[in-house]
Amino acid sequence: MNRVLVVEDEQHLAEGLRFNLEDEGYQVQTVETGESALDVLRAQPSGFDLVILDVMLPGKDGFSVMSELRGEGQFVPTLMLTARGHPEDVLKGFAAGADDYLTKPFELAILMARLRGLLRRREWLRASMDASARPVTPAEAPAADEFRFGDKTVNFDRLELHVRDQVFPLTLMEANVLRYLIQHEGTAVSRKKMLEEVWGLHEDTDTRAIDNFMVRLRRYIEDDPSHPRHLLTVRGVGYRLIAAPEKS
Ligand code: CA
Repeated sequence: MNRVLVVEDEQHLAEGLRFNLEDEGYQVQTVETGESALDVLRAQPSGFDLVILDVMLPGKDGFSVMSELRGEGQFVPTLMLTARGHPEDVLKGFAAGADDYLTKPFELAILMARLRGLLRRREWLRASMDASARPVTPAEAPAADEFRFGDKTVNFDRLELHVRDQVFPLTLMEANVLRYLIQHEGTAVSRKKMLEEVWGLHEDTDTRAIDNFMVRLRRYIEDDPSHPRHLLTVRGVGYRLIAAPEKS
């Protein structure tokens, strides 16, 4: 049985979610504040399969909860609930480490579909790694669920980045962004296109939030994040991933 933690201070909404999730066969716990969400998740690091996290909470908000959790190495798939009319919150949520979002008010059927999607996402990530899109020579061809550049290996199956002897867990969204860049290896991709194709955002969103996301990816994959060699900024456009930069 899949276990869900619902973090929502509006009681009628929290109870409505509990009722409907239990009806769908989920085991549900609800908490009303960010602080109590962190307490529960720290006490049971593998106690939940999914978290539904409202952004607007009394005290510590959903963004802080999300970034603290990810900072502590907790990568439970998390759906954030954002307020309508704040598209920048979506990117803020992703930058904090959320895996998906839904704008309030939402339809229950959509929420259920998103949760099922999150549970299946690892499988999708693995399946959609198109072998032909990966610029590797046969001699160094890695296993089907991996991409290697230099001494760094992205394992899309385990959602991990291996850098020499270090392992960094990735969120589903981080893996999605890396996969997108890898599929466009060597070419510049615009912030707008990434917003549309990775995040599914068609609004006129503030694209600078993407830059925060890239700063985090650079901390993972670059030897010197302030002088990136793999994940390059293309001035006035966006980003370009170089799998094998020229030796300098
Ligand atoms: Ca709320």
